[in-house]
Amino acid sequence: MHDIDLKAALRRGLRTVSFSLFLLLLPLACGGSAGGADGEEKSKNDDLASRREAMIKMQLVARGIRDERVLDAMRTVPRHRFAPGLDAARAYDDRPHSIGEGQTISQPYIVALMSELARVDRPCRVLEIGTGSGYQAAVLAEMGCDVYSIELIESLGIRARRILDAQGYGERVQTRIGDGYAGWPEHAPFDAILVTAAAPRVPQPLLDQLRVGARLVIPVGDFRQNLEVHTRREDGFERETMIGVRFVPMRGEVREAPAGP
Ligand code: SAH
Repeated sequence: MHDIDLKAALRRGLRTVSFSLFLLLLPLACGGSAGGADGEEKSKNDDLASRREAMIKMQLVARGIRDERVLDAMRTVPRHRFAPGLDAARAYDDRPHSIGEGQTISQPYIVALMSELARVDRPCRVLEIGTGSGYQAAVLAEMGCDVYSIELIESLGIRARRILDAQGYGERVQTRIGDGYAGWPEHAPFDAILVTAAAPRVPQPLLDQLRVGARLVIPVGDFRQNLEVHTRREDGFERETMIGVRFVPMRGEVREAPAGP
């Protein structure tokens, strides 16, 4: 008797539990797709934010990048949005990636190093030669600069423009399609100029568009290059050689131009 009562009670209990579970799952089943997708989106964004954080620590800080504005900017800019066709998680790897047309989005460390070497203070006006994906331009904009960026390949320039607009950098970044050899004199002088393609020699027009105290950061050489910084002084230019790098070649007029300093 005792036994039977116990079983009945257990059955009743189980029925209550399964009914409550059913009630609990009902709204999930009905509204599941919206709630689930939001949840999925959030956990994807959390994952990408933690990949960005790991990139900052292991690739940038560990290699000596100290400028907080650079680190903050690279913590904020969604690099994966600038690497079309690439699995978002891979965008934060320690390497450059193809962006089509034989061109690349630079390795995060190189973007950070060039941004740090620019040594800009707000308000700043920066010229970039080689828009490529638009990522370097977005990082400079996030640092508080007005950015002018020139890209030689039309399809890349158009795509970068679209991505920059979509990511909210529409006002801060002006872009143009053309050969960056001659710079953008209408907006000169600049507080810094970054060339993100390898030049066989330093373009004189770019040196001319630096204000006094401003710096040109440029990879110089052919197959392998050195990253150079040219600072404009009252009485000329000072040149520093930083590290060995590998960039895609700068094309166009720079190939025919007379040697700079
Ligand atoms: N800064 C880019 C990386 C660019 S890769 C980024 O953050 O993604 C170098 C780019 O320079 C390529 O897109 C290439 O087409 C461009 N380029 C090469 N020669 C150029 C020139 N003379 N003027 C402007 N852009 C040039």
